[in-house]
Amino acid sequence: MKILVYHNHMKSPILAIILPCYNEEKIINTAYQKLTEILNKLKEKNKISKNSYISIIDDGSTDSSWELIRTFYVKGIKLSRNFGQQKAILAGLCENEADIYISIDADLQDDITVVEEMVEKYHEGYEIVYGVRNNRDNDKLSQKVFANIYYKLNKILGMNTVSQHAEYRLVSKKITDVLKNTNERNIYLRGIITDLGFKSTKVYYKRQKRLGGKSKYNYYKLMKIAIEGITSFSTAPIKLIILLGLLGIFLSIALTLYFLLFKNISMLVILLVSLYFWGSIQLLSVGLIGMYIGKIYKETKKRPIYIIEEKNNI
Ligand code: UDP
Ligand code: MG
Repeated sequence: MKILVYHNHMKSPILAIILPCYNEEKIINTAYQKLTEILNKLKEKNKISKNSYISIIDDGSTDSSWELIRTFYVKGIKLSRNFGQQKAILAGLCENEADIYISIDADLQDDITVVEEMVEKYHEGYEIVYGVRNNRDNDKLSQKVFANIYYKLNKILGMNTVSQHAEYRLVSKKITDVLKNTNERNIYLRGIITDLGFKSTKVYYKRQKRLGGKSKYNYYKLMKIAIEGITSFSTAPIKLIILLGLLGIFLSIALTLYFLLFKNISMLVILLVSLYFWGSIQLLSVGLIGMYIGKIYKETKKRPIYIIEEKNNI
């Protein structure tokens, strides 16, 4: 038998399950039923408080999701428009009062049976428990390749991210207390949370297919999130520009020497190629720096990170 060591963590903490929801009318009811089952099971086992609950954040759905959510026994939060999954989760973490929080996608692609394991890890004294996929069988090949390149890139750029971990995680009140005081506008939770420190661990699970409905992410949106993430946490790309500049100088010298030695190459070709090449690199570099400036611009405006239109309390 496994003996649980209770640190200063409460014996039966209040758990809030945080569910971001954007146009999920097809599946939100099933998700609600299944999570309620899990919640009840954990309550019976006294692993969580009887006051534990589900909180669904409607991220500006244009279908009947909110009408459905209002009929559930959950704490519903309706955002005034679509703010994106990251901010919806952040709203869920900041607007709920609980001891522990587990964020999970509404399509239940992330195996909900690990919720129990996550709670056990909390009892063992961890403040953050990352859900990590140990298989991507249900992903398309291109998605797998993209994800792997992304995690590798994160490492190279010195970012402190957990590989194969998305938004499925448990965090304790200590973490949400910090999040409530962050003033950052560029929200990339995966990066923000791993940067906080605290005692953390991982639980592994197999990623399932969507319950129904369609993914809200296309390649364009995924790419956007990846670039957002990197530019929010690393300034390495700016340093890369300097390297490119140096490389350019070196190449130009080499090219000139080459031309001097083998005069049969057309001057015009060399001119045109180098013009296009460095022209593009300059555009890219200016664009990249522009992205960082854009972020500073967003931060200085201090607009609300998310706006709540309506709440449905239980
Ligand atoms: N989601 C959201 N706002 C958005 C896009 C998505 O709240 O703008 C929610 C969505 O309802 C789901 C979760 O984020 O609960 C993950 O979305 P999805 O399943 O489409 O992403 P994927 O699994 O394809 O990466
Ligand atoms: Mg999904």
